[in-house]
Amino acid sequence: MAAYDPIGDLPTHSVSNQPPPLEDYDLYTSDPGLRAAVAREGAGWAEGEIAALGRACGRAETIAAGFAANRHPPELKAFDRFGRRIDEVEFHPTYHQLMRMGLEAGVHSIAWTEARPGAHVAHAALEYLLTQVEAGVCCPITMTYAAIPALRHAPELLAAWAPKITARAYDPRLVPMQEKGSATVGMAMTEKQGGSDVRANTTAARPTAEGAAELTGHKWFCSAPMSDAFLTLAQGEGGLSCYFVPRITPEGRRNRIFIQRLKDKLGDRSNASAEIEYEHAWAVPVGEPGRGVATIMEMVRHTRLDAAVVCAGMMRQAAVQAVHHAAHRSAFGRPLIDQPAMKAVLADLVVEAEAALVLVMRVARAFDGETEAERAFARLGGAVAKFWVTKRLPNQVYEALECLGGAGYVEESMMPRLYRQAPLNAIWEGSGNVNALDVLRALGREPDSLAALLAEAEAARGADARLDRALDALRPAFAAPGEGGARRLVEAMALALQGSLLVRHGTPAVAEAFLAARLPGTMRGCYGALPEGLALDPVIARAQVA
Ligand SMILES: Cc1cc2nc3c(=O)[nH]c(=O)nc-3n(C[C@H](O)[C@H](O)[C@H](O)COP(=O)(O)OP(=O)(O)OC[C@H]3O[C@@H](n4cnc5c(N)ncnc54)[C@H](O)[C@@H]3O)c2cc1C
Repeated sequence: MAAYDPIGDLPTHSVSNQPPPLEDYDLYTSDPGLRAAVAREGAGWAEGEIAALGRACGRAETIAAGFAANRHPPELKAFDRFGRRIDEVEFHPTYHQLMRMGLEAGVHSIAWTEARPGAHVAHAALEYLLTQVEAGVCCPITMTYAAIPALRHAPELLAAWAPKITARAYDPRLVPMQEKGSATVGMAMTEKQGGSDVRANTTAARPTAEGAAELTGHKWFCSAPMSDAFLTLAQGEGGLSCYFVPRITPEGRRNRIFIQRLKDKLGDRSNASAEIEYEHAWAVPVGEPGRGVATIMEMVRHTRLDAAVVCAGMMRQAAVQAVHHAAHRSAFGRPLIDQPAMKAVLADLVVEAEAALVLVMRVARAFDGETEAERAFARLGGAVAKFWVTKRLPNQVYEALECLGGAGYVEESMMPRLYRQAPLNAIWEGSGNVNALDVLRALGREPDSLAALLAEAEAARGADARLDRALDALRPAFAAPGEGGARRLVEAMALALQGSLLVRHGTPAVAEAFLAARLPGTMRGCYGALPEGLALDPVIARAQVA
């Protein structure tokens, strides 16, 4: 938080040419692309709540809380003072503050508690805002949101837990569920020998007499280990199956889930990610035996949506930070924002952010599943968006960071946090290649999904010759693509979709810049290498918030 009336008139120099802190601004009303998407994709009914979170996220104290939660990372308390295992994680109070803010805003629940069109769009808008101020808390909030579809495979569990999972409240205590007003849920799939290849999981599930199971094994990555329960893959009698493993058993005993250590991560530092062990841990099956991957994929599909959404949010935040700095910083006698080479970079950042936003919000609407075609589009569109938007974020942040010069490289600015966070979402829930290969497989298995995606892209045919050429090039690319061409194909699909959406719904200057600089054949190697003659000022203005 900016200090009160800092003294800039110092004995050796006066402090000048420094931007004002970017705080106490409204993340929602200052984002024209988001406002339009919320209305267009059917979440206008939630605008009041979305706007409230936008204001809360922009407050100086919220931004400061995000910094503090990362400066004071979580600590494992494996033992109590008497040497007994407790396996708890202590977080800085600001982490709890931000978790409370997100959960009370319903980021995790609005998609399920509001059974009406636009519910997933409302969810995506909230998540997009929250991640801009603190990305670490989005991990447990996303997993909690995404647990519901998997739990539908276990109706009794769903009935018992859904009211707590969807409660707009935060209760971080590790106590029996009946004493809690709310619950969070994590997921444990990844093991040492393979994270992508989950079928190689060795964690064993032994059925017990009461229809439950005991799990024994090691999970190499398990984020938010203070969650109240974990959806877990383990080898049961019918093969790899999905289980629900609560931290406290129904008898009120601490379940035998042991946290070995917390990961020392590149970024995402406010959030705990752990190595855990199940040692005869009590669990209850979810879904059919042997169908563990299919069951947990219900969760993964939703976490993938959020992975793309949070990356779109971070892209926006990176662009906003860069534009803010350039608007208030001069070099060689002129504000940076007025200098042509900088304008090209700033406009490029805004174009990328808006292309990501328009894609993820359209896909979020498809997650509402209003028609069979929408459900088909969600399946493929979600994977395409996850691949592409997560891939584009790291470079976006790096270029935005450079716009701040040295000021972007110091920890007091937002940029290092964004930079360290940026690669994460491409790794988890299907790393780039795995995600692209999933798309490839879906093309063969789900012709409806491909038809739905093509229909969405083709909706803009005729609007622009460059886009038509990209659409023409897409169809032959689907003919028997090999694994080596998976990324090329998914990239082409994402760009065609983004182009189509921007032409139909984007502001004209953004759409034109995208067509001129992002379609296959026009895309260049670095930001700011835009063709001459584009209207850049109206593009940049979309990220100028103060
Ligand atoms: C911060 C963080 C939090 C995480 N939280 C969780 C969590 O809560 N729960 C959980 O279960 N996991 C979690 N993970 C683990 C994450 O999901 C895995 O790291 C991810 O699935 C990749 O698995 P892996 O690390 O074993 O890599 P590998 O599976 O070994 O893959 C390595 C590389 O090979 C590529 N690859 C794999 N197969 C192929 C192929 N057939 N062809 C071409 N390339 C291929 C992958 O794309 C990847 O780039 C987390 C990871 C991180 C970094």
